[in-house]
Amino acid sequence: MRFQGLVAVASAIATVSACGGEEHSCYGPLKDDVVLTRNVRRMQPEASNATTGPRAPLEWGQINFLHTTDTHGWLEGHIKEQNYGADWGDFVSFTRHMKQKARKLGVDLLLVDTGDLHDGAGLSDATSPNGLVSNPIFENVDYDLLTIGNHELYVTEIAYETFSNFSKVYGDKYLTSNVQIKNPTSGQFEYIGAQYRYFTTERGLNIMAFGVLFDFTGNSNVSKVIKAADMVKEQWFLDAVNYKDPIDLFVLTGHNPVRFNESSSSFDTVFSAIRSQRPDVPIQGFGGHTHIRDFAVWDNKATALESGRYCETLGWLAMSGLECSAKKVKKNPKGVPNPTRSAVPLRSTSTANSTAAIPTSTTPSTLRYARRYLDWNRLTFAYHAKGSQALSAFGTPKGAAVSTSITNARTALNLTKLYGCAPATYCQYCQPFGAPGNIFTLLQTALSTVVVNETRKTVPRLIIINTGSVRFDLAQGPFTYDDSFIVSPFSDSFQFIPDVPYAQAKQVLDILNAGPYQKKKRDLESRDFAFSALTADRDTCIDPPLTHNLAAKRSLPAGRLIRRTNTSPTPGYTTLDDFGSDGDDTIHSTIPHYPQPNDLQANASFPLDGSAPEKVDLVFLDFIASYIVNALNRKDVGGDFSLSQVEYYIDKKFTTNSYLPAYAKVAWQENLEDCPVGEGIGFAQ
Ligand SMILES: [Zn+2]
Ligand SMILES: [Zn+2]
Repeated sequence: MRFQGLVAVASAIATVSACGGEEHSCYGPLKDDVVLTRNVRRMQPEASNATTGPRAPLEWGQINFLHTTDTHGWLEGHIKEQNYGADWGDFVSFTRHMKQKARKLGVDLLLVDTGDLHDGAGLSDATSPNGLVSNPIFENVDYDLLTIGNHELYVTEIAYETFSNFSKVYGDKYLTSNVQIKNPTSGQFEYIGAQYRYFTTERGLNIMAFGVLFDFTGNSNVSKVIKAADMVKEQWFLDAVNYKDPIDLFVLTGHNPVRFNESSSSFDTVFSAIRSQRPDVPIQGFGGHTHIRDFAVWDNKATALESGRYCETLGWLAMSGLECSAKKVKKNPKGVPNPTRSAVPLRSTSTANSTAAIPTSTTPSTLRYARRYLDWNRLTFAYHAKGSQALSAFGTPKGAAVSTSITNARTALNLTKLYGCAPATYCQYCQPFGAPGNIFTLLQTALSTVVVNETRKTVPRLIIINTGSVRFDLAQGPFTYDDSFIVSPFSDSFQFIPDVPYAQAKQVLDILNAGPYQKKKRDLESRDFAFSALTADRDTCIDPPLTHNLAAKRSLPAGRLIRRTNTSPTPGYTTLDDFGSDGDDTIHSTIPHYPQPNDLQANASFPLDGSAPEKVDLVFLDFIASYIVNALNRKDVGGDFSLSQVEYYIDKKFTTNSYLPAYAKVAWQENLEDCPVGEGIGFAQ
């Protein structure tokens, strides 16, 4: 049965709109440098708003796109990170305002999502199947085009939830050009969504859209992913590319990296197939999966945008200069900035490396582009929505209702259940391995403390886990059931080999770290942040500093605080793409990115006198058992072990998803009533 999370919503609307108090932004009706205390009425109650806003208004073109990808269940927003504090209700309100703005300007605005809707946060992952609660919340956004991600296909029940419910909500807007599923009724394979969508926009542009998943092979056996190279030879595809009616623009969506030389991308194959048939029709790509902000120029009439991950980023793309027969379209709307950049493929970037074999458009182009990566917070949304609504009413009734439904769902799913108060922020990459703020340093302590077999607790042990078992950073503040999914959503059990000679066991970690990365099936290689030094020192107006105090519920005085402050940018995304380094909507300082080893090791119950034990229990995650045995059996190590000696060290149900909550219950019991929240990942502590 589908979760009825929205049932309570209707009754909540009246309440919520009644408290839709004023929201002032830096860019509000008062003079530019005036700061007001904002009393944030939306977002999730615990979340805080950003203190640094966008650098400039968006460019609006003839056609414009808002793009989400890899949301992975983060519909509540980042409750403990100010830069990404908006929730899905705020996004619902924002999309409505932006659609209105587009109509006022006489241009098109399309909403696009490119998949991966769960595996990352409690709202999606605390239900079985994943997405039972979060998908209906997601569905409140009227997307024009969506496509499927690999995370919709690992687990059969999730694939069927996507097929039976999600795809039906969006109908022909849900594109799965190369993904089929076995219909449980007929036993026949059929497309989960539509293979393509041909449609005419409100302003009369004729669009042919596809949704192509990269050549993914990890799906369960009820689905079938057709390789791009095969798909482009299929008759339906050739017919769609050479459609009987005019095509002004191809929109190539896909859960697929936008960079042609990214090994997992199949966009190059699809692009080539379209380009070889239609040398001069513009193509606009929207990609995902690698969780980065990126913009690639494919040729002078084709570009592609990738919009990050986890509701941290909202992508914006504006395009002008499309030739079309429709008279309704304004090529450049008035009163707003317009796109000015031509698409020029860069020789120096990776896109160009592989273009030798790829056909490109060779005739001159009239197209002009702008792209922007928006931080996912209310300050950003309210700023860009300005002019489309009274400032006092950013939150629409529907948006407010969605926010309420998220709050209710979080309560119903127990996500706010508190395990402890994390005293600091621990990140995966922003600190060197072994540094105090590095999450793996914390995990070593946590593993030693709570991964204990009571009957063998005095036996010295080494505990090895792969760093890929961690999905996200751990932000300072209340550590809840929700955070157990956010930080470590996987459920791998702890196994061991008893009484391994220490001389052999101690060599395993280095061997694993020198070998191939053990990729958890659902783990991703993700480059979290691109690098480019931005040393802008801007004169921005900011909020008064917030006391992040849960008990006080951010009840700031309603009075005006007028102040002019000169601040340096807050840490966040600093992106370098084919258009340069000005894509980030809010200017940030770069968060450092340190390489981390494949695996980490904790030890416990070692002799107190500092001597080496003779034998140890060698404990490890179940799915790396064969790596462990192989390492022990290497000639230079000298072991003689087999997988048959491997047993569970503790209850199979105690997994990588369990040990941090267990640790929080032991170690983080201070300040439970009044647990301070940090500013976010990458901020100084
Ligand atoms: Zn993803
Ligand atoms: Zn993916």
